[in-house]
Amino acid sequence: MAEAHGFAPTPSKRFHLTKPQNSPKLAPNPNESPWMEQLPNPPRATIHRLTLGQAQVITLLDGAQPRDSINPPFLMDKSPFEIETIAKDQNLAPDSFENSYTPTLIHLNGQVILIDTGLGAAGRGAHAGRLKTRLTEAGFAPTDVDIVAFTHCHPDHIAGVLEDGVPTFANARYVIGRREFDAWADGTEIPPQRAQNRELFLRTIAPLAPRMTFLEDTQTVVSGLVSQTAFGHSLGHMMYRLESDGQALLIWGDVTNHFVYSLQFPDSPVAFDDDQEAAKETRKRVLDMVVTDRLLVSGHHMPFPALGHVERTAGQYRWIPF
Ligand SMILES: [Zn+2]
Repeated sequence: MAEAHGFAPTPSKRFHLTKPQNSPKLAPNPNESPWMEQLPNPPRATIHRLTLGQAQVITLLDGAQPRDSINPPFLMDKSPFEIETIAKDQNLAPDSFENSYTPTLIHLNGQVILIDTGLGAAGRGAHAGRLKTRLTEAGFAPTDVDIVAFTHCHPDHIAGVLEDGVPTFANARYVIGRREFDAWADGTEIPPQRAQNRELFLRTIAPLAPRMTFLEDTQTVVSGLVSQTAFGHSLGHMMYRLESDGQALLIWGDVTNHFVYSLQFPDSPVAFDDDQEAAKETRKRVLDMVVTDRLLVSGHHMPFPALGHVERTAGQYRWIPF
């Protein structure tokens, strides 16, 4: 059952720890810059809550940024004419797209698990970095987060974990794929265009190692939440599968980076992918699995609320918004 902007009280103690239940989620905070007004599009929803078995799942919009080119990053094997045709067929702008960032919060069995942390301070002033505000508006304090689970170490997933060098989620422990952590720590396999990203990793993620659990494939994070490897977009990219009372949700991180271009042409090279061949194979494998298993998906870069299903269409795929 989905609830787009509900404020229904919950029996969970978590929701009694913080108080913004009595104010509308979308009301602007007077202490903030008028972020909503800066967005390139009209105001949109920023918090989406749904119930999945015993779990509450909340997707939180960290931000959305306009990009002035489709290729790169997408459809890098297509001509400008082909791209224009593909975009127009889908009623999309032929020369731009919007990149949005949506971490997922799971409240399950008294545990609060945040998957990815948005851009943090680095995104502010650029239509992003609002996760912490969204979290408070959703009824959680940053100190309520028990576990931060990372899909991978690109900036829009890790930068929000620190504020001024201090952990944003003071009580949290961390989980990450072992392959992902090791690749960034070692550095030799990291592509040259990710040099600054590696510096960010060394500043933000590496020091958290003492509070970190390193995950292999199909490892339990908490009962009901299991890791699944999806290498390619980054060298050790991880997904998380939530199951509760027979319902399932796959948080697939950046297996796809665009709701049309990545699904319609999963074989096209994407500049965002660090291992492009592995990313293509993973994309096809995961898309096939999601269709076959009729899985609900949360995708960090899918249009808000970043939830949907996938449909197979003549050898391609189509995103069906939730
Ligand atoms: Zn990303």
